[in-house]
Amino acid sequence: MTDLDALREEIVTANRILADNRVVDSFGHISVRHPDHADRFFLSRARAPEQIVAGDIMEFALTGEILGPDPMPGKPYSERFIHGAIYEARPDVQAVVHNHSPSVIPFSVTKVPMKPIMHMSAPIGSDIPNWDIADKFGDCTNLLVTSMEMGRDLAAALGHRTVTLMRGHGSTVVGTSVRQVVFTSVYMELNADMLLRARDLGEVTYLSDGEIETITKARSGFTLERGWENWCLKAGRPYVPGSNETGPGYSQTDKS
Ligand code: MN
Repeated sequence: MTDLDALREEIVTANRILADNRVVDSFGHISVRHPDHADRFFLSRARAPEQIVAGDIMEFALTGEILGPDPMPGKPYSERFIHGAIYEARPDVQAVVHNHSPSVIPFSVTKVPMKPIMHMSAPIGSDIPNWDIADKFGDCTNLLVTSMEMGRDLAAALGHRTVTLMRGHGSTVVGTSVRQVVFTSVYMELNADMLLRARDLGEVTYLSDGEIETITKARSGFTLERGWENWCLKAGRPYVPGSNETGPGYSQTDKS
């Protein structure tokens, strides 16, 4: 198996994990930047994440043009521009998840801020913008990001951050690896669900900015790997250990 074949299998696994953890349902997607060509990315054909197989993974230019394979396995996602526009704006980003994560949506249609309340969710950050497609494209769109112009507007709202909400639609999460973006996405959905319930009980204490910074800096590949292994096996996918499992990011103090 070539490295790119292994990457396609990893994308399949990521789709299954996201579905298994309610981040995506029949809709939503994850892409990965091409490891050898920064101006390309991999993303499945338009298909429910739980049904995706390696043969569904397509290759795109950042502007959304289809580069392969030939013949095409099927129709591309109409919202692939989310991914390309973010890779264009953010050289640090290697993987992107777009989702309609159900517990997150209420925070996109109200003024209630979505912030981390539990240590595992720290990577979502405390400064989460809420991109409203209507601000630039009017109140008669179907809310989908179906052009580079829309994708670039979304990427501008995201800025340097990890997550942006999308009003009345969902959210987009970025990361420096597949494992990281999946981890952040899973804990974003859990955090939103816990926050909705905490608000019913009374006043909420959020993590402080200092706590978020400390946790995010200390979090190692070991933590991501522990989640990834468990989620792979739960989702019925083979676990392929990552190269960073005991790498330089490993920290004795990171027992989260
Ligand atoms: Mn969408």
